[in-house]
Order: sequence, then structure tokens, then C-alpha cells
Amino acid sequence: MKTNTIFLSPDEMPRQWYNILADIKMNPPLGPDGKPVTPEMLAPVFPMNLIEQEVSTERWITIPDEVMNIYSIWRPSPLIRAVNFEKALGTPAKIYYKNESVSPAGSHKPNTAVPQAYYNKVFGIKKLTTETGAGQWGSALSFACSQIGLECKIYMVRISFDQKPYRKAQMQAWGGKCVASPSNETNAGRAILAKDPNTPGSLGIAISEAVEAAVSDTTGQTRYALGSVLNHVMLHQTVIGLEAKKQLEKTGDYPDIVIGCAGGGSNFAGIAFPFVSDKMHGKKVEIYPVEPIACPTLTRGPFVYDHGDTARYTPLLAMHSLGHAFVPPPVHAGGLRYHGMSPIVSQLVTENLLTPKAVSQIDAFKAGVLFARTEGMIPAPESNHAIAQVVIEANRAKETGEKKVILFNLSGHGLLDLGSYEKYFANELDNYAISDEDLAKSEAVFKDFPKPQLLKSI
Ligand SMILES: *Cc1c(COP(=O)(O)O)cnc(C)c1O
Repeated sequence: MKTNTIFLSPDEMPRQWYNILADIKMNPPLGPDGKPVTPEMLAPVFPMNLIEQEVSTERWITIPDEVMNIYSIWRPSPLIRAVNFEKALGTPAKIYYKNESVSPAGSHKPNTAVPQAYYNKVFGIKKLTTETGAGQWGSALSFACSQIGLECKIYMVRISFDQKPYRKAQMQAWGGKCVASPSNETNAGRAILAKDPNTPGSLGIAISEAVEAAVSDTTGQTRYALGSVLNHVMLHQTVIGLEAKKQLEKTGDYPDIVIGCAGGGSNFAGIAFPFVSDKMHGKKVEIYPVEPIACPTLTRGPFVYDHGDTARYTPLLAMHSLGHAFVPPPVHAGGLRYHGMSPIVSQLVTENLLTPKAVSQIDAFKAGVLFARTEGMIPAPESNHAIAQVVIEANRAKETGEKKVILFNLSGHGLLDLGSYEKYFANELDNYAISDEDLAKSEAVFKDFPKPQLLKSI
């Protein structure tokens, strides 16, 4: 039998995550006093073992056995040569994709949810709180907590809670407790409800509620978990790229171009960082994070110090940002509607190791539908952004006749996002370009903050 799928056996699975902090310089997060935050300041929010991982500069960090066992439910994930997609595009390029939609939650997010739950459990924590927008992170953390044996409480942005009942049911199926945010359970939630009982909620409000719920538990046995942006999240996701590299070695190919969609940066980091390491050591490879033109954090936002959340609870992070009060247009790729970006991904952009790209929502769905009709998988709206960039590169290869090797990450499937496909088929999707004036306004919020240094790692 001839197959286009490249498998790894369980014993070929990477046993360690790759920590890119060993190889690059970073501006530190700053506290309210303008000084670098200390691990102790984060202790009420995260367990100390994860805080240590957040700042670790060890190049390789061993994946605990218990995490490996849970990973093995869906890992190693397949690498697939998209032969039918190549044919439909008429390109000489070879297109490979890593299929992260095969996890129980349907996306890459369990790659970090499981180790986060594990380290919390080892530290003696009994319960995790978090926020979720579209529901992908809340469901991944519910799954992880059910495997590890922790309670899980999710504050889900009200409008999504009402619009996406299946996500809520998914969380419930794994035992997670999901409430609409703002809720009556926290001071932050009650204050907002008092002012506006019919508010649709926002990610900023939901973060405030989840953090408050964690730090106000007087037993000290509750912590908060975040699904993207932070260094330890990027670390855990590198299992994607490490596997992909081994799988590609079996084919004899090495990618000319690596592509992932970027919201907070974690699935992109996962597929890309092992190749960024090669690039820092002289390998020739182009690496593209792809965002929506409606939320152009890397392509149009400056590299600054800004808060990670709207309520300004988080430290100041050195990152590309559109301003912490920026409310992105309602594109259907909910996971890509974030004003900021992983500080590590941002640092790599400032060093020209990555070349950010932006595509429109309609081009993204067009590419995703062609992918579904040729390769079978119906991609998540977020993943469609990566696929749209793949189409651009495949068409370029067709013009030049070059046999480029393209690798991209399929971050998730779209089976719980079919409503957005329905809108695409009914021609009801908007491309939402943003004017320079509007961006300038939203970026005014960080003009008085300290400025990060332009550091050179290589
Ligand atoms: C959450 C999510 C994203 C965006 O988050 P990143 O941290 O940028 O990876 C992309 N794709 C899917 C399927 C998601 O669930």
C-alpha cells in the first residue's frame, strides 16, 4: 500500500521539549513599578514549578512520563503530504502538514493543557481556573484536568457561551464547570453586571474573573492557567515541530518554508521553533507566522511594552501589540483575535528570523474549503489562515517552477465552527480591513510605557 502519511512509532516520540530561551535574548516582563517581575510576584497565580519553567534557559526539558502517557492518546500526530491539494493547485511544490486536529479536543491546545495540569497537580493544586473565548482552550483544559484529576472552572465570554452551546457541552463532558462571563461569582464580574446586565462580555473581563477566582481561594489550592502567549506554553508546543522534523527526515525532505497561523503564537511556535534553531545555525529556511488582516499584530503593530490583558492585570510584556484595549473585528477565527503576541515570537520577528504575513478572512475560508475538498479534513477557521499562505507560496512556486518544500501546521479541525463555514457559503463574511487612523488610536495606550531594547541574539 502506498501512503502519503508519515507516522512515527511511539518510541520515536520526542522525550524532551525544545526551550528556545537557551538560544535567544529577551526583554524581561516588568511589574507596576517598572522593574522586572520576580517569580514570587507570580506565585499566587501560577505554581512555582511552572514559573521556574517560564524563566528556564535549559535548552532541553524532559517531558514527564505521566504527560508522555497522556500524549500517547493522540501523539505522535501524523505528518501528511497533501498530494491532492498540490494537484488541485497545479504546483510543483511539495506540501506537508502536521495534523494537530487529532487530539481529543480537536486542536493543538492539549499539548500544553496536559503538562500545565500535571505540574499544578505535582505542586499540590486541586483546581484550575481559566477563561475561554471561542471555547477551544476551555475544552482542552477540561480534557487535561479530567486526565490528571483536577477540578476545572472556565469563564466563557458571554456571547460565545450563548452562540456555541456545543463547546460548553464538550467541557461538561470532561467534567469542567463552565459559566458565562461576566458572572455573579466574582467582584470583577458583579461590577460589570451592575453597570451593564446585558453585556456580551470580553476576553479581558473573563481573564479578570478567572485570575480573581484563583487568587481569592483562601485554601491556596487554586491556580490560573493560560493557553498561549507565555514562554512555557511555547515550550510545550515544540513537541509538534520536533516530531515533524523526524517525520520529514524519513522522506529525505527539508522545508524551504514553514508556516503556521498566529493568534497568541503557540501553535506557530510549536511547528516553527525547532526550525528557527536550525536557521540560527545557518540553515536556509523561511518561516512565516500568518495572522488575519483584521488583527495585524505582527504585520502592523509595533514592538513595545504592553499589558497582555484589557484590565491591565498582567505585567508589561515586550511584544508586538495593537494596544491592550484593541477590540478586533468579529472575524470567525476567534483564536486569532488577540491584541498582543508571544514575547518570544515577537523577539524573533525583531531579529528577522521570522517573516510575518497577513491574509483576509475570505481568502482564508476559500483556501480552507479547497483543502477540505481535496484532503478531506475541514480545518479550523484559524488554520485556514495558514493554508491561505500555503496557497500563495504554492502559486509562486508554480510561476517560478521551483520544487519548494512547504510545511504547515493544521492547528485544529473546524467541526465545531461550521457556523462560520455556513456564513462563508452564504457570502456573509466580511474582510474587515483596519484604517491607519484606528490603529494609531488603539496604539496610543502604550505610548508612555517603557520601551524594550532591540536585542541581538545571533
Ligand atoms: C487557539 C487556537 C489558535 C490560536 O492560538 P495560538 O496560540 O496562536 O496557536 C489557532 N488554531 C486553533 C485551532 C486554536 O484552537
